[in-house]
Amino acid sequence: MGLTVNNLIDWINNFSAKIEQNKQYLSDLDTAIGDGDHGFNMSRGMKAVSQKLSTKPETITDVFKQIAMTLISTVGGASGPLYGTAFLEMAKKSATSDDIGELLEAALTGIKKRGGAEPRDKTMVDVWSVLVPEVKAHNLTREKIDSAVAATKDLVAKKGRASYLGERSKGHIDPGSQSSGYLFEALLETEGI
Ligand code: ADP
Ligand code: MG
Ligand code: MG
Repeated sequence: MGLTVNNLIDWINNFSAKIEQNKQYLSDLDTAIGDGDHGFNMSRGMKAVSQKLSTKPETITDVFKQIAMTLISTVGGASGPLYGTAFLEMAKKSATSDDIGELLEAALTGIKKRGGAEPRDKTMVDVWSVLVPEVKAHNLTREKIDSAVAATKDLVAKKGRASYLGERSKGHIDPGSQSSGYLFEALLETEGI
């Protein structure tokens, strides 16, 4: 067990497929509390990532670096640098660990540092901070992913575009939390990690 170039690429291609399948839904969530581009931003980025990874890198560190660079240069918005940071931190950590829980923990620390958000600010940090400990404890389930994403609905946004709406951001799922939910779902479905 542990991360390999092959199962890492499987995970990311599965994430990419989920983004593609749900890009309209993700953008609709963003239309309610943002500028309506989240699904399209992520789709553009993940298509470029899958294209890039069709030439297989030699190490997991190289895979993570290529994902990070590609996301930073193609996604844009708030989510591009944040997902980019997550994968860059996983690249760094992968020099000494192939444990997915430890890698995701490093990614979460990077996202928080980069965006300044804390749990309950209605950002992707909400989903990551609930689910990373579940991955570490080997207890991640589909139900936990769904409930972490759904729990962002009743929060008032404190960071990002949705925070401009104040109380009116309540009642809508956070788009970046939903896309992050797909990343964890894709992980759950990937054999051997
Ligand atoms: P933009 O808001 O620039 O159009 P996107 O629509 O692609 O970018 O991404 C919006 C998502 O980014 C939000 O739903 C939220 O999850 C996430 N996000 C925004 N700001 C922050 C932040 N400071 N920290 C963590 N996540 C954030
Ligand atoms: Mg947006
Ligand atoms: Mg935007």
